[in-house]
Amino acid sequence: MSKNITEELREQLEEQKKDGLYKSERVIVSPQESEIKISSGEKVLNFCANNYLGLSNHPAIIEAAQETMNRWGYGLSSVRFICGTLEIHKELEQKVSEFLRVDDTLLYAACFDANSGVFEPLFGEESAIISDQLNHASVIDGVRLCKAKRYRYRHSEMDELEECLKQSQSEKHRIIATDGVFSMDGDLAKLPEICDLAEKYDALVLVDDSHATGYIGKTGRGTFEHFGLEGKIDLITTTFGKSLGGAMGGCTAGRKEIIEMLRQKSRPYLFSNSLAPAIVGGTLKALELLLQSTELQEKVMDNAKYFRKKMIEAGFTIVPGETAIVPVMLYDEPRAMEMADLMLREGIYVIGFVYPVVPRGKARIRVQLSAAHDKEQLDQAISAFIKVGKKLAVI
Ligand SMILES: *Cc1c(COP(=O)(O)O)cnc(C)c1O
Repeated sequence: MSKNITEELREQLEEQKKDGLYKSERVIVSPQESEIKISSGEKVLNFCANNYLGLSNHPAIIEAAQETMNRWGYGLSSVRFICGTLEIHKELEQKVSEFLRVDDTLLYAACFDANSGVFEPLFGEESAIISDQLNHASVIDGVRLCKAKRYRYRHSEMDELEECLKQSQSEKHRIIATDGVFSMDGDLAKLPEICDLAEKYDALVLVDDSHATGYIGKTGRGTFEHFGLEGKIDLITTTFGKSLGGAMGGCTAGRKEIIEMLRQKSRPYLFSNSLAPAIVGGTLKALELLLQSTELQEKVMDNAKYFRKKMIEAGFTIVPGETAIVPVMLYDEPRAMEMADLMLREGIYVIGFVYPVVPRGKARIRVQLSAAHDKEQLDQAISAFIKVGKKLAVI
C-alpha cells in the first residue's frame, strides 16, 4: 500500500514540475527586509513579502518582543481557558478592538485559525453563508467546516450576490463573507455595495482584512476605514503576520455577543495554544507605532502608485487597483516561473504565482510594495522588469 502511494505521488510531483506548477522554496539567510540575502550569498531586493509597513525587522518591535519575553516568559503551555490567559492577552485584545473600532476581539495563533473557527459556532443548518469565489483558502475551509448552506458568487459580482441573498431569504441567519483586499489581484472588495445589500436583505457581513489591516485607510485600520463603513461590518478577521510586524497570530473582532460565543465554542481557539508573549508584545508595539504616525501608511501607498505608473508606462499588463499588491500578468505558467528566475538573476526577488493559487492561464508575478523600499530600489526593480520583459517578449 505505502509503496503504491509513494509511487503515485512521485508521478504527480513530476507532472507538477513539468507543468510549471511546482513550488520550490528559496532559502533566505538574513532577516526579512527590503534587501535580503539568499543562500547563494547574493543580496537581492525583496518584492514579495507582506511586509507592507516594513515592520518585520523593526528595532522597536524586536525590543518590545524581547522585553515582553523577558517579563512573561517564552510560552504558555496551555490554551486560553485553562491557564493560558495573561494580562497582556487581554491588553492586546483591547488594543485591537480599539484599533478596529469594535466591541471585542479574540486572539488566534493565525488568521487561518480565526477563519477556520468563525463560522461553525455561529451558523447551523438553518443558516447560509454567502462567499466571494476568490476568498482566501482559510475562509473557504471555515465554510467547509460548518453545516450552514453554502452560496458562492463570482468575484465581486454584486448581481450574483443579490441573487444569493434572494435565494437564501428563508434561512434564519445569513452572512456574506469576503476578503477586504484580495491577495492575488490586490483589488478591494466592493464593501459599500456589499453593506447596502446586507442591510436590504438583513444579512451579516464578515470581512477578512488580512491584506488591509495596518495600511489601508487613512490611519491603516483597514477597508472599513477606507470606505467609511465604521460600524457596518459585523465581523473582521485579520492577521498579525503581515503589516503588523509579520510574525504570526490573528484575530476575530466584532460585536460583544458574537465574540463571547466564539470564546465558548470556536475550536481553534479552545483547542490550540495561547499566543506566545513575544508575539503579543511585538504586535502591541506595532499598533502603538501605527497610532503615533501615518508616515509608513503613506509611504507604502506612494511606492505602490509610483511602481504601478512606471510599469504601465513600460507596457506591462497590470491588474488595476489601489493597494500595495501589484500583479504583473504573464498568463502562461512556465513563462511566469521563468520570469521570476530571471528577475532573481537581476537581483530582484519576486515569485511567479500559478495554478492552483490562481486560476489556470492566469499566471502572474505578484509584486508587493513596502514602506521599507526606497525610490532607488523601486527604480532598480522597474529596470530589471523591463530588461527581462523584453528578453521574454512580454513587452
Ligand atoms: C494571509 C491571509 C490569511 C492567513 O493569515 P495567517 O495569520 O498567516 O494564518 C488569511 N486570510 C487572508 C485573506 C490572508 O491574506
